[in-house]
Order: sequence, then structure tokens, then C-alpha cells
Amino acid sequence: MGELPTRVSIREVGPRDGLQNEDPVPTEAKVRLLNALSHTGVSRIEAVSFVHPKAIPQMADADEVWAAAEKVPGVRYSALVPNSRGAQRALEAGLRELEVVVSASDTHNRRNVNRSTEESLNDISALIAMVHGADGECEVIISTSFGCPFEGDVAPARVASIVDRVVTDGADRVAFGDTTGMATPRRVSDVLDAVRARQADVPLLLHFHNTRGTALANILTALRFGITEYDASVGGLGGCPYAPGATGNVATEEVVHMLHDMGIDTGIDLEALIDAARLAQQIVGKELPSGVLRAGPRIS
Ligand code: ZN
Repeated sequence: MGELPTRVSIREVGPRDGLQNEDPVPTEAKVRLLNALSHTGVSRIEAVSFVHPKAIPQMADADEVWAAAEKVPGVRYSALVPNSRGAQRALEAGLRELEVVVSASDTHNRRNVNRSTEESLNDISALIAMVHGADGECEVIISTSFGCPFEGDVAPARVASIVDRVVTDGADRVAFGDTTGMATPRRVSDVLDAVRARQADVPLLLHFHNTRGTALANILTALRFGITEYDASVGGLGGCPYAPGATGNVATEEVVHMLHDMGIDTGIDLEALIDAARLAQQIVGKELPSGVLRAGPRIS
């Protein structure tokens, strides 16, 4: 643990991870939210996912959304893909930053995609090669890195060995997903210790959910490890897939509000971001779980 970073890169995941876990909204509303976010100064946005429309109806219009969205210079846009077919669609749509998910827990992986973690890793190896062949970048997201709703604790050594595998296969970045909000500062330290002991250089990104109120504490812990890349979702958009009504993604404006007060730059205009959170709230038609959205910044 060392000095805190002076700059952090936030990837806004509201348009994809957020809206995918809310009731479906019209294409036009998705485009409006994307455009608003593109003008907040955020450097990265997870825009869409190219999944089978029957599996996830919320993302059935990914091609239309992406085609209609403003591509603001300086913003990097990414897409989540479930497999090579999805990667093909994303590449054909012009995206060059792709993300693919595998679960650290075998049971969770089987429940999601009916395959073992090992089988998914073999598919991902081929997918990375395909993305690289099209001059794209591929990030591997390891979900349930901090615990699994079915298996309980996941050994940090297991997470670290999955990182080794995907780095060997050419992953450009590795993200750790706290899919079910099971991370705590202790678990974050354990995973980062285990991974950094074996992989000193691979770029790491952390994706926290605030299901049990620990997301900002987890981010502070990871900052002390020098991690500079985080996912967050405007307004806290996107619930928890395993606990209906519970909070999911950490709210971007809560993260930005804390970081700016600590003197850590994000490039984001907090007021513009809060406006985008208001828009997100209006689009989904319900109150979102963001404290900074409700209360405003400590000094406005
Ligand atoms: Zn999430």
C-alpha cells in the first residue's frame, strides 16, 4: 500500500450494466442517457452489450442504440459481449473495446452459461485472439471475485490463477466484478495481494456493487493499492440480480464526489453528472439509490 493516485479513470456503466438490470426502456431514452453522459467529461462509457435478444430483452436494440448515439471525441466506448458471436456483432458495429465475463465460481458460471469456468476460459482465449485480429482490445471481467451467492467465499488464489490464465491468453485488462455486493475492504485486500504478487503490471479495473454499503470503502482500499480504474453507474442504476429491490452498482456521482474531495481528479463535471443521474431517474421512473443525487454535493 502506498500513496493514493492523483487521477482515476471512471468507466460509466449505467447505459449497459445499469439499464440491463432495470425494466426495459425505449431506445430513444437510452440514446438520450448515453449522450448526456458523453458530455459529463467521463473518459469511458460501457455503452451496450451484444447479447441474444431472447436472453436479455433490455439490450435487444444494442445496434440501434449504438448507431444513434453521439460518439464524443475523447470518450472511449466499450461493449460487453457474451461470446464470439457477440464479439463479431460488436466489431461489425465499429466498437474496438470489448469486455467478456467469466465467473470465478464454477457454480455461478454454470448457472449463467451452463459451462464450467475452465470451458468459458477456453472460449475466451479464442475470443481474445479474434478481437486482437480486428485491432481491438479485450478486457476479461472475473465476476464473483469477492464471493459467490452459491459457493460463499471464493479463494483469492483461485481468482489469481484465473488472472494468470487470461493474461497468458492476451487479455488487455482484467476487471474484478463484485456481482452480488459481497466485497469488503478485507476481501479487496486479499484479492489484490494475491493477484499483484503474481501479476505486477497487468491493468486492473474494479467493479463494485453497494448492495451491503461497502462500495466506497472498497474503492478507498483499492486506491491504496494504486488501482486507478473503476466502474460506476450513474444514479446507482441497475439493481441486484440476486436480491430483488436491493442496491446494485455503486453510483458514479458518489464515487466522483468522494474522489474530488480527496484531490483525486476524474475529469468529470460533477454537476453535469448529477443532471445525468436525474435524467436516469426520470427514464426508469423510480427513485435511484444515490446519496449525492438525493442530498447534492457537500458544497455546491
Ligand atoms: Zn454491476
